[in-house]
Amino acid sequence: LFLDHPLAEGQTVPLEAAQAHYLSGVMRLGPGAVISVFDGRSGEFDASIAQASKRGGTLEIGAQTRPLQPPPDLWLCFAPIKKARTDFIVEKAAEMGAARIVPVLTEFTNSERVRVDRLRAHAIEAAEQCGGTYVPQVAEPVKLAKLLDGWPEERSLMFCDETLVGKTGRLPDTPGPWAVLIGPEGGFSDKERARLRGLDHAHPVSLGPRILRADTAAVAALTLWQTTLGDWR
Ligand code: SAM
Repeated sequence: LFLDHPLAEGQTVPLEAAQAHYLSGVMRLGPGAVISVFDGRSGEFDASIAQASKRGGTLEIGAQTRPLQPPPDLWLCFAPIKKARTDFIVEKAAEMGAARIVPVLTEFTNSERVRVDRLRAHAIEAAEQCGGTYVPQVAEPVKLAKLLDGWPEERSLMFCDETLVGKTGRLPDTPGPWAVLIGPEGGFSDKERARLRGLDHAHPVSLGPRILRADTAAVAALTLWQTTLGDWR
């Protein structure tokens, strides 16, 4: 269970009503039952239920069972698409081990209204379901030009360029922090592509012989990055 509260052994921590209801009403757990909790920053702990009802409850935090296992320093930057597909991208990025998720507004981005709180809730749920101890940060949406203006020079960029469809090429295994960039349904504009190709730290890549939908492209790109540079090496 994720607790939005910095955790340490010996603390008494309040439960939100929905979490208390889930533990008592859905899981049928009562006082003294021990569950696993994490806060996304301090690792995983045992916690015993002191009290839980529909209206709220408290947990006593016990021994730490796992340290924080942060993923490699990888950002997933993607242009938001339709709501359900954007939710999918965030969920899969959290499962695949992105450290930070950045919604990027490009020239051809249609869905400009991004509910960051909703995306954060999806990232938390995904971390809970895959047994992670880390929850990726979800950044506020940023325009592509602004993101590139402030780009940290040590961070390599895997630029997924749909015009390279069918071409082969390798992702270099440059050490250090990385980011993956996925465009919107309409792809990148010529101006954006020219700027991205001109960046020293950007590596334009193809994701294979067919144009993928943006949500498929995000999972394929994260897999390619993982096999070249990430936890799977
Ligand atoms: N029109 C489709 C849609 O409705 O989803 C295609 C979207 S595709 C243009 C969206 C993004 O996925 C691209 O901007 C690119 O970042 C990535 N992408 C998809 N297929 C790719 C490929 N074969 N190689 C590189 N990038 C790809």
